Parts: sequence; C-alpha cells; structure tokens
Amino acid sequence: MKSYDVVIVGGGAAGFFTAINVATLNPKLSVLILERAKNVLQKVRISGGGRCNVTHAEFIPNELVKNYPRGEKELRGPFHSFMTGDTMEWFEQRGVALKIEDDGRIFPVSNSSETIINCFLEEAEKLGIEIKKQQLVVDFKPLDLGWEIHTKSDKFSAQKLVIATGSQTKIWKQLSDLGIKTIAPVPSLFTFNSRDNRIASIPGVAVQVGVSVNQTKLKTEGPLLITHWGFSGPAILKLSAWGARVLHELNYKFDLVVNWTKFDSFEACRPFLQDIKEENSKQIVAKNPLYELPKRLWLQLVLASGIFENQRWADVNKKQLTALANQLVRSTFHIDGKSTFKDEFVTAGGVDLKEINFKNYQSNKLKDCYLVGEVLNIDAITGGFNFQNAWTGGYIAAQSITNDSV
Ligand SMILES: Cc1cc2nc3c(=O)[nH]c(=O)nc-3n(C[C@H](O)[C@H](O)[C@H](O)COP(=O)(O)OP(=O)(O)OC[C@H]3O[C@@H](n4cnc5c(N)ncnc54)[C@H](O)[C@@H]3O)c2cc1C
Repeated sequence: MKSYDVVIVGGGAAGFFTAINVATLNPKLSVLILERAKNVLQKVRISGGGRCNVTHAEFIPNELVKNYPRGEKELRGPFHSFMTGDTMEWFEQRGVALKIEDDGRIFPVSNSSETIINCFLEEAEKLGIEIKKQQLVVDFKPLDLGWEIHTKSDKFSAQKLVIATGSQTKIWKQLSDLGIKTIAPVPSLFTFNSRDNRIASIPGVAVQVGVSVNQTKLKTEGPLLITHWGFSGPAILKLSAWGARVLHELNYKFDLVVNWTKFDSFEACRPFLQDIKEENSKQIVAKNPLYELPKRLWLQLVLASGIFENQRWADVNKKQLTALANQLVRSTFHIDGKSTFKDEFVTAGGVDLKEINFKNYQSNKLKDCYLVGEVLNIDAITGGFNFQNAWTGGYIAAQSITNDSV
C-alpha cells in the first residue's frame, strides 16, 4: 500500500485547486489525486460554454455571498480569507490573463477553458503532484493516524484525506456510514415551461419584471426572457435557485405571478389606468404600450384583458380596465415542468453544512478529513460563483493541511 501525505479524491476544479495549493505552500508534502474518469477536469472543460467563467467581479464578501442560495451564511467567513480578487491574482501569477465582461463574469482572455486546464496540469507536473485516473474510490477508513483509501483496484494511505467529488452521490454512502449527514440532491438553476397562449407567439421578448410563485414566499425581480418553451432570464434562474427545494416538492407544477410594471400592487395600478383612459381617450389601446413594454407583449396583455385590437381607451369599460390592471401587475402563468439552462446542471444538495468547520473545511466528526467544492450543500446562480466556491474551499483547506503538517 503506497503512502502519501495528502490524498485527494476527485480530479475536478476543487481537487486540483487544493492539490496545487498544498504543494505550493509546502513542496515537501506528497500529494496524490485519484480520479474515477479517464480524464481529469472534465467539467472545467465544458464550463462557461467552453470558455470557463472562472469567477465574478464582485469584490465585497458580504455582497458576494448573496449569490449563494445555499452557503450564504457559511461562505461569509471563508470569503474574507480567499475570494474573487485572490482568484484573479492566483491565475494571473501563473500566467493566465483574465478579462472582466460587462455583466461581471470573468473569463480567460483566450476565451478557452483549455487555458485553465493547461495551467492546472502544468502546475501539477511542476510541483510533482501524482494523478491517477480511472481510480474510482469505493471506500475510505480512518486509521489511528490518517486514512486508508480503497479504489476498485488499489489501496493507498494518507495523513490527510480531501473529498472533492463534486455532485456524484455514490460517495455519499461511505460518508453516511462514517456518520456524515448529506442532503438529497435536487436540481437548481433551470428555466420554466409554460404553454400559455399569451407568450406562445412572442419568444425573444425580454422585460424587467417582479416575479413570485403563488402560495410560497418565493419572490424576486430582474430581467425575464420569454422563450419558445416558457420563461428564462436572470429573474427566473434566481427563482429556480432559491426555490430549488420548494419547486421540487411542487413537482415543478405551480403558478408564476409576473408584475410587468413598477407598481407594487393592483390597487396602485388600477386608478392610474383610469387616468390614462381619460387622458388618451382617442388612442387605440393595443397600439400604445404603457411602461415601455415591448409592443408584442403589450398586445397580448391587452387581448387577454378582453380589449379588442382596435378598441380606443374611451370605449374600455370598468371590467376591461380591471382585467388590464390584473394582467399588468399580477399576470398568472401556469408552469408545467422545467428545462435545463444552457446544459448547466447545477445541483442543490450534498454534505450538510453543519458537518463542516468553515475555518479550515475540515469535517467536524472525521479527523484529518476535508471536504471542498460541490460535494458540499453549496450552490450558486450562474456567473462564475460555483467555481469561486471550489477555489475558496480548496485554498483554505490547503492552508490548513500545510499548517497542520509543519
Ligand atoms: C455544463 C456546465 C457548465 C458550467 N459552467 C460553469 C462556469 O462557467 N462557471 C462556474 O462557476 N461554474 C460552472 N459550472 C459549475 C462548476 O462546473 C462546478 O461547480 C464545479 O465543477 C465543481 O467543482 P468540483 O471539483 O467540486 O466538482 P467536479 O468538477 O464535478 O469534480 C469532481 C470530480 O470528482 C470525480 N469523482 C467523483 N466521485 C469519485 C470517486 N468516487 N472516486 C474518484 N473520483 C471521483 C469526478 O469524476 C470529477 O472529476 C458548470 C457546470 C456545468 C455542468
């Protein structure tokens, strides 16, 4: 059985970041990465549409944490030690030039995830990190000092064990056998399916809205995009991430309420429409959108209120006016199912955050065992935040491992 100072299970983003930082901070330590697949860093390769959105230009820890539906509270401390600015510096010190796009997402200037992969592989080689592929870890046992790790074909021992297995649930059985609590996985970050007539003919329309889910506390605002299958855009993605568990319980069948205006209630909007009616009596309603709404959307909301295509404001009756206020402030759409957002499968669930000491990413119960990256019940909205979680955990765990091993 070969012995190492540190064995890392999982050759993904978090595994490599931990390994490289351990070996950089203490080059004397022997480090092994065990990866089940034929290739390491597979998710990095496909990330960000092949461009790898490494992090996000948000440099205030207390603001950064707001992008994590699960992990907001726990990441506050870690982000004060290692966050977005540190990530940028880390890559730039290793020759990876980064750029910030208008929406805050940060990519390699090369626009290729291969740049990040090459950086990791070159660093690993330079530092003498051993990488063993096609080594599915099936068991790990605590020893008096350190750990014994079993793959399908081999056995290794380590002073320190790092679990960086991402959202693969197979390893959870071993973790729960050792008394670690895990939270069942559910999808996060998805778009909503709806066959509603009001949106069937207007895909591509984008509007700033307020959205909520009937009979829940879920509520947010932001840009919404009407798609061929329903709704997408940042407002919907946020609802899906914060509502991952609630929407799963509803089996993705629920009523979405959209406020297309800045009015905070129906009661505030209704008298305003009365004034519009009086001031613009000769205008054709359908042809003169209010609140800068796109013409095609306005037409659909007007028709859904029972107002005819050529009807003038003067001829709009009370019932129609009330219906229009309802359509504008609380349009209800039945949602029936979800779709994946740009192939980005983000999963909520993983090791319960109460199991981790976020000062060093060590298990509270298992000595010399660290857990980093997506294996934890932490996930974020799209924009580079999920990788930031992997980098932060990897760096802090590496610091703790090397401090302990001096
Ligand atoms: C299509 C797509 C695009 C994405 N784009 C972005 C983006 O641009 N920016 C962003 O911030 N986030 C993005 N994400 C999310 C991001 O990829 C993950 O948050 C991140 O990869 C998590 O890193 P990790 O190391 O924890 O897990 P992973 O990268 O999943 O790595 C875990 C590794 O462990 C291995 N493993 C699992 N079990 C075992 C075992 N028993 N034995 C040995 N090895 C094992 C796996 O094979 C894998 O290689 C994207 C996700 C997807 C799916």
